[in-house]
Amino acid sequence: MTPRLKNFINGQWIEPSTGRYGESRNPARNSEIIVEFPLSGREDVDRAVAAAREAYPKWRSLPAPRRGEILFRAAELLRARKEALGQLVTREMGKVLPEGKGDVQEAIDFAYYMAGEGRRLVSEVVPSESPDKDAKSIRVPHGVFALITPWNFPVAIPVWKVFAALICGNTAVLKPSSDSPLCAARLVEILAAAGLPPGVLNLVTGSGPEVGEPLALHPQVDGISFTGSSAVGEALERQAAALHRPIAVEMGGKNAILIMPDADFKLALEGVLWGGFGTAGQRCTAASRVIVHREIHDRFVDELVAAARKMRLGDGLEAQTDVGPVINEGALKKILDYIRIGQEEGAQLRTGGVRKSDGPLADGWFIEPAVFTGVTPQMRIAQEEIFGPVVAVLACDSFEEGVRMVNGTRYGLSSAIFTRDVNLTARAEKELETGLVYINASTIGAEIQLPFGGYKHSGSGHPECGGRMGAIDFYTRIKTVYRDYSGKLQRAQIDV
Ligand code: NAP
Repeated sequence: MTPRLKNFINGQWIEPSTGRYGESRNPARNSEIIVEFPLSGREDVDRAVAAAREAYPKWRSLPAPRRGEILFRAAELLRARKEALGQLVTREMGKVLPEGKGDVQEAIDFAYYMAGEGRRLVSEVVPSESPDKDAKSIRVPHGVFALITPWNFPVAIPVWKVFAALICGNTAVLKPSSDSPLCAARLVEILAAAGLPPGVLNLVTGSGPEVGEPLALHPQVDGISFTGSSAVGEALERQAAALHRPIAVEMGGKNAILIMPDADFKLALEGVLWGGFGTAGQRCTAASRVIVHREIHDRFVDELVAAARKMRLGDGLEAQTDVGPVINEGALKKILDYIRIGQEEGAQLRTGGVRKSDGPLADGWFIEPAVFTGVTPQMRIAQEEIFGPVVAVLACDSFEEGVRMVNGTRYGLSSAIFTRDVNLTARAEKELETGLVYINASTIGAEIQLPFGGYKHSGSGHPECGGRMGAIDFYTRIKTVYRDYSGKLQRAQIDV
């Protein structure tokens, strides 16, 4: 019998008020239902937010190092369950098993990092201009967070949000993607087993419009963190602005790799294959554009096409698979639409771009890795996020033209340059308008101890993850405190 999930509210697993359930299916074997999950409604959202609200005063009063101890125990459990969780990631959203385990490893890394943050949460103390007076800023939590996550990193992204929100003293309601609810539920089980008090983290599953939106806009919610498509993220930003509510959104990308003639050719080729076709191109940082200097363009394209043809499609649990399925039928259709659009625009489809549906692949959403050449900057396939295994190759004549092309979209998440010229790498670092820049590495592969976030329409400027300007800044508010112990009135700027 198919397992059935419940919502997790106030420390209890409970049925949704609607009595309705959806299905999460294995994208490599569509006939396999991974789990049935609640299609919740507003009442469930109300309950979850009320539980988070009630738990908030006690949780925020618990010293941050104590909160960190609970998160540390959760990190230990994540580590112990890495293999099983990695397999679940692959079954529920399709990425190949080494990447499924990588998703969990990223979660483990961040969980430990945030647990340690319980003993830092650094703020500032500065000298006052007056004698016998303290001047400092402290970090305080916001309250209740709505956390809305996508399916492509079904363990790592919920962990990025949950652990950062919680260590800062907030409580939260998590609304995961309807394509990966079981991964989120496993995470919640781990936090409960680690001793998280009831109500501190709640899980409500269901559709974006029926659960995500009422949650984000709920009157008792104090902040929103969303990762997903630009269309949904930008709509939420507008709604949150009307409520004057802090919101962090991480959204789509149209990331590019720039390859100069002096690049390590083999390394650049490996970088394009990994960035373009890893996770079947379904990473926000996927290398969906490759801008190659004309001096090496033809040779590079020939080798890229030959290598793409050799990639083996299949179930991500099988060791020989290079590229897994795309997430669902809707995604498959959207990608095939872009393949048609690219051809209509005049780009040459050099390989792939067709649904593979023979033999055991017939039951899944498989699409052969596609390479387009002859792409010009204004084509839709060079401007719009496709989110599938499709690489558009553009030619440039100089570094300057290449940088203009990289920067010439509405997105600004990740970019990369391959060159051996140290001076060019320094210029690229300055001139590429993306939140992440990789030098002699692909556009994917961020590490959690530095901020992660996009420019322009890729993000709101409140990065996720670690580092001095990372997630802690978003999940805390700054309170500036002056304490005068002189016993007399000292007037700032006047009694000097
Ligand atoms: P999505 O369709 O925007 O969904 C993201 C989440 O929002 C899901 O939980 C979804 O619920 C929910 N949602 C949908 N409509 C909503 C609404 N009106 N109000 C509130 N919530 C709503 O994106 P996705 O397909 O899951 O993920 C792929 C996208 O995420 C890509 O664009 C990718 O670039 C982006 N992404 C960005 C980053 C980053 O850090 N920049 C990282 C990963 C992915 P349902 O699942 O129930 O629809």
